[in-house]
Amino acid sequence: MNEFAFASIKTLRQALDAGTISIDELLSYYLKRFETYDKKLGSALEVFDKESILQASSLKGPLAGIPGIVKDNICQKDRITSCSSKILQNYRAPYNATVVSRLDEAGALRVGRANCDEFAMGSSTETSAYQITRNPWDLDRVPGGSSGGSIVAVAAGLVPWSLGSETGGSVRQPAALCGIVGLKPTYGLLSRYGLVAYASSLDQIGISTRYVYDNALLLSLVVGKDPMDATSVSVENSDYISNLTGKLKEGFTLGIIDNALTTDGFDPEVLKKLEDAIKHFEGLGAKIKRISLPIMDHAAAVYFMVSRAEAASNLARFDGVRYGYRCDNPTSLTDMYTRSRTEGFGAEVKARILVGMYVLSAGHSNEYYKAAKRVQALMREAYYEAFKEVDLLFAPVSPTHAFKLGEFKDNSLALDLQDYFTASNNLTGTPALAVPCGFTQAGLPIGFQLIGPEFSEAAIYQAAYAYEQSTEWHTKHPDLP
Ligand code: GLN
Repeated sequence: MNEFAFASIKTLRQALDAGTISIDELLSYYLKRFETYDKKLGSALEVFDKESILQASSLKGPLAGIPGIVKDNICQKDRITSCSSKILQNYRAPYNATVVSRLDEAGALRVGRANCDEFAMGSSTETSAYQITRNPWDLDRVPGGSSGGSIVAVAAGLVPWSLGSETGGSVRQPAALCGIVGLKPTYGLLSRYGLVAYASSLDQIGISTRYVYDNALLLSLVVGKDPMDATSVSVENSDYISNLTGKLKEGFTLGIIDNALTTDGFDPEVLKKLEDAIKHFEGLGAKIKRISLPIMDHAAAVYFMVSRAEAASNLARFDGVRYGYRCDNPTSLTDMYTRSRTEGFGAEVKARILVGMYVLSAGHSNEYYKAAKRVQALMREAYYEAFKEVDLLFAPVSPTHAFKLGEFKDNSLALDLQDYFTASNNLTGTPALAVPCGFTQAGLPIGFQLIGPEFSEAAIYQAAYAYEQSTEWHTKHPDLP
């Protein structure tokens, strides 16, 4: 059975189709792995019972019987969707997110809901109101965040796929820190219907898997226009698979965001592995072009303003009136609003709402919010120009390997800087894929990302697959305690 722990979706599909194993047996096997390992890892807030998991799925289609887990800010009908917050502790989703429905139709099995930072605000999964999640490569370290639970479940071989969400890097950063593949799709490619809003102009559901092929397969099953999300788009071609030849496209040019690789504070071991990956692409026949995109050095700062501004208005809906937590014995309407929010939200969420209110306030919006929106427009332009010269861009995901639990407890700036290399894609709507590229001496995973113009996911997967198939990193898995 253990051959299935880290098997690809492709392998599992073959085993199921050949009758080597039944859907029931495979599901039991993975549920058992949660039981055995997740007490220590803490990836899931809840694992559903077997009968109800099977009932929710069509059990027909390309993913028939393939288990996965969904971040706790994506609605699963009749299940609690708490966003890892106390304010939604008892909230049950009245409907499925569109992406969830599409996976159900494709036969996938949703085994539970994954821990995350509260309302997806964080870079370490430590702001969850319920539990911490540990990095399977070193239990004293964070998995990254905010989709830490989703990523750990996949990295630890508890399931082969998961859904997370991306507002500033929340799938790619933990994917890199845990050694798996994580996609932030083009804005609009996936419906946001049923994804609890953090910063709506940046939010996208993201996909993580251990292998590039699996990621491409999942994406092909969930893309496309949804009447319930006006910002979703229809795609002409949802084939992300036939490009996966193991070869780079003819004349492939890879741009290296050079200023990203010379940033101060870069961990030398991480830098070395990134440079090795660039050489590897060169060996595969890529033309390498080093370019400078200094505007991207402002991504974390711009993201800081835009995300907080939108969060402040999105989270205004949690007022104790319609759903979610309401304080005991309110003495007036104002008292109810104030205490419900004070008691229901955690410290990070409150801090972000306050910052958001501040940057939007009449006296300051020019200086902060509007300035940030202007820099955001310049970033779009910079990417647009860059993609006239190169097919894809190569960049770091995180400047460090996974840090210790609690290491940045009193240093929120260090945590915010985790978004340094990722936020520009959320701000410009461009797609990016985190791909594993090695380990530190101490055995901690490192990843790079490939960035492309809007709707270039097929091209990104093609290059990532060529890299993956000619390296060994995807064959390494953590030894679980
Ligand atoms: N680390 C970022 C933040 O704290 C990213 C969050 C996200 O993508 N959801 O906001």
